[in-house]
Amino acid sequence: MPRSFVHEARRPVGRRRDRIKPIIERLAVEHADAKIALDFRNPVELLISVMLSAQTTDVNVNRVTATLFVKYRRPEDYLAVPREELEQDVYATGFFRQKAKSIQGSMRVLLEEFDGEVPRTVDELLRLPGVARKTANVVAAELGNPQGVVVDTHVRRLSQRLGLTRKEDPVKIERDLAKLVPRPDWGRFPHLLIWHGRQVCDARRPRCEDCVLIDLCPSSRVEIDEVVASP
Ligand code: SF4
Repeated sequence: MPRSFVHEARRPVGRRRDRIKPIIERLAVEHADAKIALDFRNPVELLISVMLSAQTTDVNVNRVTATLFVKYRRPEDYLAVPREELEQDVYATGFFRQKAKSIQGSMRVLLEEFDGEVPRTVDELLRLPGVARKTANVVAAELGNPQGVVVDTHVRRLSQRLGLTRKEDPVKIERDLAKLVPRPDWGRFPHLLIWHGRQVCDARRPRCEDCVLIDLCPSSRVEIDEVVASP
């Protein structure tokens, strides 16, 4: 089980239902450019990129797909090579055997059941081999049809620190956030938390003194009086 941040949320800052709107509004201003960090030009490339991003960084995936997407342009292309060749082409993303198997399996189902088009719903996406709930949620959201709130390591940490959930399990955290976050914001909310997590609310050293959520966060390490009093 990854480290928990639930215990950090101790300061009384009001009900989460009352805080969620200003939290989203402030983060939207602060991180106006927040978006998915993967490079892709079409739904198939999006799906492949998200599948490759498991257990590695987006930067690493982009490095691999820069050449991968030149060689493989259509779902058929992934099936036209031996598994070993695709394994070599995705090797640098780690877990290359499993990823190559999942990609070929998904491309096959895409062609056989979806006319080669990436489906838009989470339920349909989950029918693709190797596509788990998180991948399906990310892809559906990027295709303009968010059906859940994507929970990654940043979303988990910030949701816990902001007192939006007291759960540890990503599926239960997603359930809490889906009840709390207005549906039109389901797509952008994870990006806002991920951006904020990377730039301000670091796991080890959150920069609370620079955070726009200081008065809305039960985990803030800086007293609001200190910020007001500082020059
Ligand atoms: S950086 Fe912001 S969100 Fe993170 S713990 Fe500090 S006040 Fe809360």
